[in-house]
Amino acid sequence: MAVRIDGKKISQQIKDELKEKVSALRQEGKEGTLAVIQVGADPASSVYVRNKKNACAYIGIGSLSYELKEDTSEEELLRLVEELNGKEEVKGILVQLPLPSHICEANVIHAISPEKDVDGFHPQSVGKLAIGEPGFAPCTPAGIIQLLKRSGIEIAGKHCVVIGRSNIVGKPMALLTLKENATVTVTHSKTKNLPEICRQADILIVAMGKPRFIGAEYVKEGAVVIDVGIHRDAGNKLCGDVKFEEVEPIASAITPVPGGVGPMTIAMLMDNCVRGIEKGPNTMLQG
Ligand code: NAD
Repeated sequence: MAVRIDGKKISQQIKDELKEKVSALRQEGKEGTLAVIQVGADPASSVYVRNKKNACAYIGIGSLSYELKEDTSEEELLRLVEELNGKEEVKGILVQLPLPSHICEANVIHAISPEKDVDGFHPQSVGKLAIGEPGFAPCTPAGIIQLLKRSGIEIAGKHCVVIGRSNIVGKPMALLTLKENATVTVTHSKTKNLPEICRQADILIVAMGKPRFIGAEYVKEGAVVIDVGIHRDAGNKLCGDVKFEEVEPIASAITPVPGGVGPMTIAMLMDNCVRGIEKGPNTMLQG
C-alpha cells in the first residue's frame, strides 16, 4: 500500500518556515505586499483569491486586493498593472486567471514586471526556467518538487513521465524535474500508447484535467504518483485525474485529492512573494 503524501502538512511546514523568514526580514527593514487582482466574480476564483489573502496574513505579509467588475476593459486592467509595477512596496502582482474572454491573458501577463511575477508566467520567467537561470517558478510544479523532496523521494536519475503540456503545469513540471536530473518524458492528448509510456515511469505526474482517468493499467508497481487534477464528481466530492483506490495498492507513494498538490500551490506562491521581498527573483526553492 502506498504512502500517502500529505500536502496539507508539508504546505503548513513551508508556511511556518516562511512566517519565521518574514519576521526576520522585517527586523532588517524588508517588507512587502502582494497585490491580487480579480476581474469578475467567478466563485471558484473568489475562493482562490480569499485563500491567497489568508495565506499572506498567516505568514505576515501585506496583501492588496483589487476586485474589478466583469466588464473592466483590457486597457483599464493594464493601467492598474502598470501602476502596481511602479509601487515600491508591492513585491508581487498576481492576476487571477481565467480572465473574461474580452481580455487577452497574454497581454496582461506580459505587462507584469518580471521582478514582481510571483506566478512565474511571464515569458522572462519561463525563459529563465528553460535555461536554468534563477527566477520565479510556477507555483504548482514548484510545489510538486517540494512534495517529492520533503517526502524523501529521490528525483535524480528517475524516469519522470508528465501527462499534460500546459504552460501552468505540464511544461514547467518537465523543466523542473529535468533541473532535478530526472529523465523526463512529456505526454499529451496526441500521445500514442499512453498506458505503455506511463508504465515506464518511476514518477508519474498527472496533469491532464480528466476526472479519474488514470487507472492501474497506467502505473508500474512501486511508482510514485502525483495527481494534479481537481474536479467535482457526480456526488459533488472532490477527485483528481487518478482513480485513487485503484492506483494506491500499486504505487509506493501517492498524493490524495484533496490534500495533495492543491495546498502546495499557495505555499509556493507565498515562497515566491517572500523571495520578492528578500531581493527580487531568486533561485527556485532549493530546500
Ligand atoms: P489544461 O487543460 O491546460 O491541460 C491539460 C493537458 O492534458 C493538455 O496539455 C493535454 O494535451 C493533456 N491531455 C488531455 N487529455 C489527454 C489524454 N487523453 N492523454 C494525454 N494527455 C491529455 O490543464 P492544466 O491547467 O494543466 O490543469 C490540469 C489539471 O490540474 C486540471 O484538473 C486543473 O484543475 C488542475 N490544476 C490543479 C492545480 C492545483 O493547484 N492543484 C493547479 C493547476 C491546475
